[in-house]
Amino acid sequence: MSSPTPRYPLHRLTGQFREPAREVSYRREIAPRVRLESGVAICVAALVFGMFAISDYHYLDAGIELTLLLAMRLVVVVACLALAVAIGRLGDFSRRLWLHALPLWILATGIILIALLRPESLATQVTALVVATIAFYLLIPNLLPVVAFASLYLNLGFLAAAVVMTDIPAVVVLRIGLLLVMTNAVGFFALLRLERLQRTQFALLEEERVQNRQMAEEIAHRKSLEAQLRQVAEQDALTGLDSRRHFMARAEALLRRARHEKAPFSLFMIDVDHFKAINDTWGHSQGDRVLAAIAKTCKHSLRPQDVVGRFGGEEFIVALPDTHPKDALMVAERLQQKVSELEVMESMPDHRLTVTVGIAGGVDEDADLDALIQQADRALYAGKHAGRNRVVMSQDGSGE
Ligand code: GH3
Ligand code: MG
Ligand code: MG
Repeated sequence: MSSPTPRYPLHRLTGQFREPAREVSYRREIAPRVRLESGVAICVAALVFGMFAISDYHYLDAGIELTLLLAMRLVVVVACLALAVAIGRLGDFSRRLWLHALPLWILATGIILIALLRPESLATQVTALVVATIAFYLLIPNLLPVVAFASLYLNLGFLAAAVVMTDIPAVVVLRIGLLLVMTNAVGFFALLRLERLQRTQFALLEEERVQNRQMAEEIAHRKSLEAQLRQVAEQDALTGLDSRRHFMARAEALLRRARHEKAPFSLFMIDVDHFKAINDTWGHSQGDRVLAAIAKTCKHSLRPQDVVGRFGGEEFIVALPDTHPKDALMVAERLQQKVSELEVMESMPDHRLTVTVGIAGGVDEDADLDALIQQADRALYAGKHAGRNRVVMSQDGSGE
């Protein structure tokens, strides 16, 4: 069974993303953490390196070698501390890679110089070298190639210094070499695994982020669709008034409250007179403009708590909570007056725009919205029969 192709292929030897852009974004993501951890690790490494000055005293008498060694240790410590600060401040992991490599090379040079200046302690130095090599790979967070090259330099340089400065037999050199190969292999593969794991984790996290973003966008899109649907269902497209269905729901709620509070409630139906003639004479679009203008007038001349809907064609319906029919009559007459003064009529000079209004309502504990609408409609019909352009109060129910 073949293993599935990974979605984010990683380089076999470096553990880095094969996709350069992804590698860059990974390094950018870990940059703050690497800056801090590198800075701290290099400070600690430098201080440990400095502390070994104690063993210099132990192995060497006062003299030029001791002075040189101490001076060298001081230079390495100061340089590393300065670099640790620089890395903390401007160690952009994705661009200034050399800044991260430099302390490793300085520390490596220091260790090699010890082998040159203090050859008699070679046995202890080999142990220190193994520890330092592992520390390079595992404790100083860095990129695998950077660490591998610095470690190669450290190990080869040390081996060369040992061969030059001491007369150790070839077989011992071979044994040290093998030990170093093993140390490097352990460090290399451990770091390679870590690099791969961290990048896989990063890739999965990024995927999750993308999915979350897509989900958020999808939710926002659905919400906007829902809002649009609601608007389509609740609002009349031409006039912006409540649709008949939405009006009924809102008016029903107002009426329920009025019944409960024993408060007055009125309702009126408005029908444009001879509207067909407007369409026939000035065209359907002009008819639409007239309807929109009447709707606007209704909205503006009513209170915010009143509800206006388009009942059908050129008929509008208004629910007025806390309003007695006789007050509704005044409201309707005012509305009738305003409609007759509409500016939209300027392009229809010979036409008088009038409406007929039928009113129903009162204080009634058994009031029913459909019944009230029928009463208002009958009053409206009576108004049409009586010659239009008038407000008629319903004679049924509690209206009178
Ligand atoms: P009445 O005075 O008896 O009410 O006469 P009317 O002409 O107003 O009444 P009728 O019911 O005969 O005609 C209503 C017209 O309204 C017919 C229809 O084409 C028109 N109408 C309905 N809806 C719209 C619309 O959205 N836009 C336009 N421009 N006209 C519409
Ligand atoms: Mg009509
Ligand atoms: Mg009409």
